[in-house]
Amino acid sequence: MPLENMKAMLSKAAGKKYAVGAFNILDYNSTKAVVQAAEEANAPVIIQTSAKTVIFWGAAPIISWVKELAGPSNVPIALHLDHCKDLNLIKECIESGWTSVMIDASSKPFEENLALSRQVVQMARPKDVTVEAELGAIVGVEDDIHVKEQEAHLADPEQAIKFCVEVKPDCFAPAIGTAHGVYKGVPRIAYELLEEIAKKTAVPIALHGGTGLADDVFKKCISLGCAKVNISTQLKYAFIDGFVAYHEAHNTEYNPLKVIDAQFHQLKAGIIEKIKLFGSSGKA
Ligand SMILES: [Zn+2]
Repeated sequence: MPLENMKAMLSKAAGKKYAVGAFNILDYNSTKAVVQAAEEANAPVIIQTSAKTVIFWGAAPIISWVKELAGPSNVPIALHLDHCKDLNLIKECIESGWTSVMIDASSKPFEENLALSRQVVQMARPKDVTVEAELGAIVGVEDDIHVKEQEAHLADPEQAIKFCVEVKPDCFAPAIGTAHGVYKGVPRIAYELLEEIAKKTAVPIALHGGTGLADDVFKKCISLGCAKVNISTQLKYAFIDGFVAYHEAHNTEYNPLKVIDAQFHQLKAGIIEKIKLFGSSGKA
């Protein structure tokens, strides 16, 4: 099937209280793992690229391998640009065939974030490309901030409503207490805030910082309105661990294709597990 944008898959997910997994790919092998996992689970899926990954490979090779893998597939697949602050890169991805983009102007003052996010919506919508926008600051666990500081970074519900009314994003990423990277302690999720924002904005919510959250935390967030769950760090670990573990177990072999295959299977197994946990298996 041709690539889809996130609109239909997220509104269906939000309505039926499951979430579509958005998995950050790194190369052809990890893209193949995402596509095959979605096919095996018969699930809609979002292939997600960080801005760094797009800059590393260039847009053209990524779009070519994504189209080659997604083309023959019969599950809905979107190609989404994760956290991007650079309007030129967003424009390049839209023109290259990404079906969805995220503008992250969350570090800017509110009015500026609003204006930039709206600008991206105006750029994307005529091309049928969906837009995710962020409010508040989704911190990295490496930032090691304290609880009080964390609360200061959370999205404000009144601002969230104004933001969604004026920007009209297809997917909304309010900071609700999750963080990027690997959690050191138990994350403090602002469930009431999530529920209030999801209800009042009626926009499908994206859950960032998914790696390391407990299964019941995922389920609760999804039940409260998260329709997209981002998984990135988990795939970085599987990418390297899958490779290293095979080599350590066969350290005289030097057969790269076997190593790549081991990495693929480790990635795919983890992705299928998450798809099932998010409730999207069988929802293609
Ligand atoms: Zn994120």
